Amino acid sequence: MLLYLSEMTTIGKIESIINNRELSKENIAFLLGLQKPYQHILHEYAGKINDEVKGNKVHFRGLIEFSNICTKDCYYCGIRKSNHNTHRYTLLHEEILNAADFAFRNGYGSVVLQSGERSDRFFVEQIDSLLQDIKKISGGKLGITLSVGEQTEETYQRWYSSGAHRYLLRIESSSCRLFERIHPQNALHMYDTRLECLQMLKRTGYQTGTGVMIGLPHQTLDDLASDILFFQLQDVDMIGMGPYIEHRDTPLFAEREHLWLLQQRFDTALNMIAVLRIVMPDINIAAATALQAIDPMGREKALLCGANIIMPNITPTENRKNYLLYRNKPNVDEGAEDTIAGLLKRIQHIGKEVAFDEWGDSQHYFNKVNNRGSSSAI
Ligand code: SAH
Repeated sequence: MLLYLSEMTTIGKIESIINNRELSKENIAFLLGLQKPYQHILHEYAGKINDEVKGNKVHFRGLIEFSNICTKDCYYCGIRKSNHNTHRYTLLHEEILNAADFAFRNGYGSVVLQSGERSDRFFVEQIDSLLQDIKKISGGKLGITLSVGEQTEETYQRWYSSGAHRYLLRIESSSCRLFERIHPQNALHMYDTRLECLQMLKRTGYQTGTGVMIGLPHQTLDDLASDILFFQLQDVDMIGMGPYIEHRDTPLFAEREHLWLLQQRFDTALNMIAVLRIVMPDINIAAATALQAIDPMGREKALLCGANIIMPNITPTENRKNYLLYRNKPNVDEGAEDTIAGLLKRIQHIGKEVAFDEWGDSQHYFNKVNNRGSSSAI
């Protein structure tokens, strides 16, 4: 009887928070901590909102990890500068164009160019000419997202003019305390710089994406609730977030005894996606690859509770094994073609449909622009 009463209270509380939009930090933290048998209520609600706003469409972004050379030393990341156990590579211009062409011919609609972080002139120019060439080979039809870290405003503007229209820069954790714990304390790894870069990206006109890792050592549900409020406050257009997965060749590995169980990181990541879909219905949310490293059905589960984007890896197979941000990274051995066929089947299996040949832009971005337009007209 007591159990029955407490069950009713939990279900009642979930429904009241969601239906009455009582999304205070405390209530968000409560939702983020939901486990079986209550978690599914949150997920189904978020899935329904996603269906209402986005339909049952899933958009692809072909992910090209074109270089693992990195000037940064983030404590969690397997391609950090000081990890000498990684074979460093940079794809040739032609190889990157081939991957983009593959995405274009197979109807992906967009690509994401991602790499370790560099800001030297050669790098800035390499990206610039890549953007122009990708636009050329696709007749301007392939959408391009960049994910190459902190740069100057001038660089962001230059790349925007050359054809990039979306940019992903995860804040990693919106908590300054945690951010400082997972990065070296020096001018290259400043919380304020990262924040300023997000402002520059928005000012430049990019659809701007950020995100966090979920289940970092010492991270709490309260921290994650603050991350959700941070996304809302920053008014971002896209989010990519997934579980933190330890990598043995990184300093943060030493703190692994403070980690939540992998399953708990996974469940909390799904809860984050679901809550975010409720809080920001019209943004794009990616089903992060790291989810699949924990559960083979991880990305599908994310699509069912609020995510609407998948980023199939189209990096040439021989390079994938060197872009190991974390252990157990999936699809390291497969060719890109295998991944398409498999993905299509998986997506159709959960009753969703792949939207081929579309950019799949963030509606939030355009809603913001329209609102701005109408308020300035008044
Ligand atoms: N250099 C680029 C992107 C490269 S890494 C940038 O700084 O934006 C892309 C993302 O992988 C990072 O933003 C981080 O959130 C994620 N990542 C890195 N190491 C990880 C780990 N050990 N577990 C889970 N995600 C990780």
